[in-house]
Amino acid sequence: MWLNYCKNIVVVIFAIAIFVISREPLAWGPIGHEIIAENGCYTLPSDMGTFLISNKSLLAQYTNEPDMVWKDKFGDEERVKHFIDMDRYEKFPFSHFPHSYEKASKEYGARFVNTNGRLPWVILEFMDRLTGELKSRDWDNVLKTAGHLSHYVADAHQPLHTTENYDGQLTGNLGIHKSFESYVVDEHEGEYRFKREDLAGKAEYIEDPLSFVFSFIRDSYTWADNILLADLKAREGSEIDSEEYKVKISKGTSEIAQKQIRKASVSLGSIWWTCWVNAGKPEFPKGDLPVVREPVPLPVDEGPKLPKTVHNTGSVISWEDADKYYEEVKTVEGKIVLSHNSGKACFLNFHRNYKEHFTVVMFAKDFAKFPPNPERYYLNKIVRVTGKIQEYNNKPEIIVKDPSKIEIIEG
Ligand SMILES: [Zn+2]
Repeated sequence: MWLNYCKNIVVVIFAIAIFVISREPLAWGPIGHEIIAENGCYTLPSDMGTFLISNKSLLAQYTNEPDMVWKDKFGDEERVKHFIDMDRYEKFPFSHFPHSYEKASKEYGARFVNTNGRLPWVILEFMDRLTGELKSRDWDNVLKTAGHLSHYVADAHQPLHTTENYDGQLTGNLGIHKSFESYVVDEHEGEYRFKREDLAGKAEYIEDPLSFVFSFIRDSYTWADNILLADLKAREGSEIDSEEYKVKISKGTSEIAQKQIRKASVSLGSIWWTCWVNAGKPEFPKGDLPVVREPVPLPVDEGPKLPKTVHNTGSVISWEDADKYYEEVKTVEGKIVLSHNSGKACFLNFHRNYKEHFTVVMFAKDFAKFPPNPERYYLNKIVRVTGKIQEYNNKPEIIVKDPSKIEIIEG
């Protein structure tokens, strides 16, 4: 009896784990998030926009932190913050959905609510946090929280973050999530960097934030079917991931993506603006902003003495060509534009779209050989990395076990 009970618990936990883990790679791509945060600044009519845009590289970093750092660090607890499966509660137009978390938990059970995504309530939590930090003029944290908040607001405008059919797995569209974020948005970055005058509106004060959040989630949901339909059409006669498919899916859904990115920017601006008004409209710092703090590379003498770099004498290739040399030992050159350390591994990326492009990986067991905080140490440096180029998750990488394999060329 007791054993059976334990077995059942194990099965349930396992099922929840699979459900949640299977959603891990899903979001707007990093470039999409960055664009929404930046565009959000342009919807603000005041010093708040100037303050945020003056720190846009930090804002870009913070907006991607929930996907790139927190999911690894906090696991399932974080993953459920990035979506809400509206259709698991009731059919569209969700007119009976209880907006408050307490009411929803009472009606459906806390476990149901937590496993089907906490996104709307997380946005409210971050709004409270931002309002508090604005009140106390804690500018460092204002910038951080504004960035984090922008991530979740952007996720809520990604139609596939609002439905249980988030990857088209229920309708023969499996893989659509990645197609939509990568082939449609990330590969056509220029089409989404709107000019200030092309944005869909200006930030406005929100009287009832919870209803506002649910209204854009509901609106977002209505676009999911069109994306799935465009995907089915794009697959007619073309393999998913083929160049032909990429062109078709981009053509079929770019209008939706543009519309949602525009809308996300205005919603985000309004959310930031509302926090500022509710905080008593504090004056932003002018001139040299105290918050501009790009990650500072650590001085070399704080780390272990680096052995003289020994790399192969073969020709140096660009990081962009790394995928042409799988299973070969090469020296790859490029600038580290993005990095993150999950505690288990440190990733150095040569393109902000880290899911698609060449990456250097070092594992925790080797960290002691490298300077402390390698993710900061190598960031913004031009490096040459030597090692065997391997394919992992459809992209090239080199695993580096020794600092002699990374030579800093510049920076
Ligand atoms: Zn996300």
